[in-house]
This record gives sequence, C-alpha cells and structure tokens, in this order.
Amino acid sequence: MKLLEYEAKEMFVNHGIPVPDGVIITEAEEMALHLHKLGPEVVLKAQVDVGGRGKAGGILMAKSEEAIETAKQLFDATIKGVPVEKILVEERLPIEHEYYLSITIDRASKQYLILFAETGGVDIEQTASLRPDAVRKAVINPLLADVPPFLLRRLIGKAPKEIAPVINRLYHVVCEKDALLAEINPLVTTPGGVFAADAKLIIDDNALARQGIHVNRDQTEREREAERHGFSYVELAGSIGVIGNGAGLTMATLDLIEHYQGNAANFLDVGGGAGRERVTHAVRLVAGMPDVQVIVVNLLGGITRCDEVAEGIVEAGISQKVIVRLAGTNEEAGRKILREHGYMMLDTMEEAVRAAVEAVR
Ligand code: GDP
Ligand code: MN
Repeated sequence: MKLLEYEAKEMFVNHGIPVPDGVIITEAEEMALHLHKLGPEVVLKAQVDVGGRGKAGGILMAKSEEAIETAKQLFDATIKGVPVEKILVEERLPIEHEYYLSITIDRASKQYLILFAETGGVDIEQTASLRPDAVRKAVINPLLADVPPFLLRRLIGKAPKEIAPVINRLYHVVCEKDALLAEINPLVTTPGGVFAADAKLIIDDNALARQGIHVNRDQTEREREAERHGFSYVELAGSIGVIGNGAGLTMATLDLIEHYQGNAANFLDVGGGAGRERVTHAVRLVAGMPDVQVIVVNLLGGITRCDEVAEGIVEAGISQKVIVRLAGTNEEAGRKILREHGYMMLDTMEEAVRAAVEAVR
C-alpha cells in the first residue's frame, strides 16, 4: 500500500529524518490558524496518489497572504482526474540543491538496494541515462541494523556529510515498516540543513496487519466477506454481476459490458485455481447485492477445472439468472453439468455479455 506524502513524512519524522514544517488541511479556511508558523512563503501540496504530481499541477507555491486563495484553487482542482481532499501546507524551503534517495528490495540479490543520485527532483530514469556517474548504488544485507559507514561514504561521494544519517534513518524506516520502497525525491540541502522535501513509502501489503494499518475502514459487509475469501472485489452501481478469474479477464468483461451499453454491478476476481466452493461463495456474494439481476461468470480453465466451476455455480442455487462462459480444462464436462441444471453456457465472452445485457433490458 502506498502511503500519502504526509503519512510517509510522519513516519520519517518519527525516525529522525528532518522534513519541512507543515500542516495538513482539509479546507482552505483551516490554514488561517497555521500560517504564522510557516513563514512568508508556503508550498501547497495536494495529497493525491498520482505520479508526477508537481507537473500535473498538484504543487503550488504562494505568498502567505495569498495562501488561502491558492488553497481554494487547489481544492477545486483535480490532479490527473483525482479530487484533492487534503493539502499539505509547508514552509517554502530555500533549496540549494536537490538529491535523490531511495531504498528498494533488489530481487536478484534478495537484499535492500540503496540508490543515491546527485541530481534529484527530476526523473531519476533521466539522470540515470544522461549522467550514469551521478547515480550510486549499494546493496545491504537486511540482517545489518545499520548501513555501514563505508557504504554511506561511497554512496554520498562529495555530497554533504549530513546526508549520511538520513540514509541510515531511511534504512531504519524501511526495515521497521516492512517497506517495499522508500523514496525521498528531492532530498534537499538548505542553509538550515538537509530535509526530505517529498516522501514516498510503499508498505508490503502482506505486512499491513502486523503494521497495524487498516485500509478501507468503510468497507461494506460484502466487501469484508470478499476479503475473507481472498477475492478482489469492488462494488459498482449497475445490475449485471461479474465474476471472472484473473484481473485482466475480469476487467475485459467489465469493458465489454460497457461496450454493449450495460452496467456492471461489481468487479470480482476469484483468483487462480478457483475450486467449487470458492465459486459458490463468489456467486452467492454477487447475487446478494440488491440490484443484481443477472450474473456473468467468465472463467478460463487452467488449474481451474470447468466441471468444478459448473458444480459450484449449481451449488450456489441463486434466484437470479447466471450466464456462463467457460473455456479450458474439462470444458465439456462443465457444459454438461450446466445444461442439465438449466444454466446458459455460451462459447465466447461477447455472447455471454450480450445475453446478460439483453436479460436486464
Ligand atoms: P512530486 O511532483 O509529487 O514529486 O512533488 P515534490 O514534492 O517532489 O515537488 C516537486 C518539486 O517542487 C520539487 O522537486 C521542488 O523542486 C519543488 N518544491 C517542493 N517543495 C519545495 C519547497 O519547499 N521549496 C522549493 N523552493 N521548492 C519546492
Ligand atoms: Mn517528488
């Protein structure tokens, strides 16, 4: 899970990484209370999960007296289509130089990989290709509690020595927070010292429970149930229920429904190797949505066996119409079971989706 900048900065601060003074606001007027603490100029940063936020208009600079007006503008804007619900207002730092720092997991060596670049702020890929000498890397064995000083010296080169403890502290954040990525771009130097001007932190989803991070607190009962079964499930507003296996196939099914001018009620990806019981749970779950009139089951059999899927559908015994498209392992056996129980099985997903759209008309 990717944290928002202000959430990541909170964790950075707790580990002793300096960040600019700032406050988080949800309404422009709130800022009046805080402006006196933030100096004559501020930076307003939309807290949206969008890459290239600055270039997309999500970062605005303002003089203190214009800040509330600027905040209103930013709250009214959408950044790459994402509405702005929170703004981080920070003192504007007098930046001398921008560096790049990140720590990720290097799959090849199964160790942490630290990247430091002398030019930050811009795309790191660009720096890497234009000035490969400006990017330095080090891998570190995750059993080490600290980044060894010789590695820190090698990483920072001629950059200011104050950066070394920041690297070490970011390493602590990564280890303690089960992060897959921690990035500071830019890490800036100012007359007042080194600061993380931006912050990115991605926590391993498998560690969210251990980290005490609860996502989607306002889940519906059905969404919680879907989570318990390990389905990827999203509720939408339409009347055609959708069950697929694999995110790609399920999305393609939604796209086709849209294409034939129908409205999907949900996205449900049962995952790979869906057995009979999982299918039954999925069908009942989707059928439980009050607006669902018909359900499209679009599954590719591989590890998943079509006859098991067919049994699972029959077992669910729901009142709505179920239109099935199964292809692959034991397809004929599946078709037979469905036919015997009066279910409609079609050969292509186009046919299945068209039939579903017809059914709700
Ligand atoms: P991103 O576009 O989401 O990566 O947003 P950043 O937080 O990295 O900000 C983009 C750019 O805005 C940075 O590279 C800086 O050049 C500039 N910027 C951000 N904060 C400050 C600040 O406090 N002072 C100054 N002078 N520039 C800033
Ligand atoms: Mn940035």
